[in-house]
Amino acid sequence: MSECKAVFPGSFDPLTFGHIDIIKRAASMFEQIVVAVAASPSKHPMLSLEVRTSLAAKVLKDIKNVSVVSFDNLMIDFLREEGAHVLIRGLRSTADFQYELNLIHMYRTQLPNIEVVCLPTRLEYSFMSSTLVREIAIHHGPLTQYVPAEVAKAISDTLNSKK
Ligand code: ADP
Repeated sequence: MSECKAVFPGSFDPLTFGHIDIIKRAASMFEQIVVAVAASPSKHPMLSLEVRTSLAAKVLKDIKNVSVVSFDNLMIDFLREEGAHVLIRGLRSTADFQYELNLIHMYRTQLPNIEVVCLPTRLEYSFMSSTLVREIAIHHGPLTQYVPAEVAKAISDTLNSKK
């Protein structure tokens, strides 16, 4: 295969150390990684799409083969437009696996050539989720263990602006 382009999509609301670990590991496996930040309006994200996208770009800027884009269409259409060869997903639990497996079958009926690569989380990130981070943030708990400093700052700025 020529240059292999892999897409890692997600809401990244917010981007956590668990996501960053998956991105770094994927970047060592494939020539090009596109981190695709989903608008996800139905999830009513805490951080705006612009903030989520610019934070990811800032945090990941030193990884040469990683780029960050946002998208607001169907993921399958986005993958087609990007000409992606591989879809990356992270797995934390059997619940993630069951959820992903259902999606994988759906994606592949529409994009038969896409290969899905699921990377298991590292033990230290296995409990980490954006949902947990949002919950801690709302209750003013410490975020340093879960997200980079610039992400923690953006969360507190956003929550303060909503007061
Ligand atoms: P989505 O809106 O797709 O659920 P997320 O931002 O929650 O977006 O997750 C994006 C991807 O990152 C998913 O494949 C998810 O399983 C994976 N992921 C999230 N948190 C972790 C973690 N702590 N370790 C490994 N993978 C993770």
